[in-house]
Amino acid sequence: MSLLVVGSVAFDAIETPFGKTDKIVGGAASYIALASSYFTQNVNLVAVVGDDFPNEFIAHLNVHGVNTEGLQVKKGEKSFFWSGKYHTDMNSRDTITTELNVLGDFDPIIPDAYQNCDYLMLGNLTPKVQQTVIERLTKRPKLIVMDTMNFWMEIAMDDLRRTISMVDVLTINDEEARQLSGEYSLVKAAAKIQEMGPKYLIIKKGENGALLFHGKQIFFAPALPLEEVFDPTGAGDTFAGGFIGYLAKTNDISFDNMKNAIIYGSAMASFCVERFGTERIVNLNNDELKNRISEFKHLVKFDL
Ligand code: AMP
Repeated sequence: MSLLVVGSVAFDAIETPFGKTDKIVGGAASYIALASSYFTQNVNLVAVVGDDFPNEFIAHLNVHGVNTEGLQVKKGEKSFFWSGKYHTDMNSRDTITTELNVLGDFDPIIPDAYQNCDYLMLGNLTPKVQQTVIERLTKRPKLIVMDTMNFWMEIAMDDLRRTISMVDVLTINDEEARQLSGEYSLVKAAAKIQEMGPKYLIIKKGENGALLFHGKQIFFAPALPLEEVFDPTGAGDTFAGGFIGYLAKTNDISFDNMKNAIIYGSAMASFCVERFGTERIVNLNNDELKNRISEFKHLVKFDL
């Protein structure tokens, strides 16, 4: 099934307790597109970069089968830039810089060939732009999944609430779920957020796993305990890419299949954190993925 991915494609500068990077390639849609490409070869990207963005990375996306016809390259302009510093527990971080640059006036043009997509993944991006993408699709996709972050809650809450009301699945982290709902209990937060529109809510809890809420149903998936965690940047996006990639591959949006998709998303995210940036997820092989999935099975399997 075809998947449309929209989101930031960017430069990041990251500092973790294990090291520091200069500007490297990042951005929500970069991680999502790469991760989803392991499940479906029908990934179409809409995003914007400046002419400072490396062609090599675009070529990498193409090698992964990602269609970049909808990636706009703005002459004489700079790509979105984000920098962040992780705390010692690596579960929380501070944003140091957000320079919107080309994202500031991004007009998301959807190529004709992308119309009629079955699945839409709205990665982290200006909420108004996310909304414009939905409005520009001639046919509503079978499933719309959206990610966002505290930055947009702080500067564009009204737009954000409107966009959230238009999607089927929202993925956010625990801190953001509390900020969006005003509730400390994640169960109460989930109920309030579902009233805002999305019938499904995924709350990501970093190394503490992820929760899927749908009405009164709750599913929990742990994160795989790893020997090496270098950089959590993009883990949420990689999770989202694995999640929607698996749904697009199986074309089944039942709650039970979403549980499987969450395990695949978690497996993809577990690779992402093992290196800085997209380094680990550009070159995965199928055996590695298969083995991770089986590690997940063993981790949570028990007989009563
Ligand atoms: P994650 O670690 O999954 O939350 O995602 C990190 C990625 O989100 C980085 O690669 C950033 O480039 C990107 N990012 C950070 N802030 C924003 C923002 N305000 N809008 C869009 N993308 C962002």
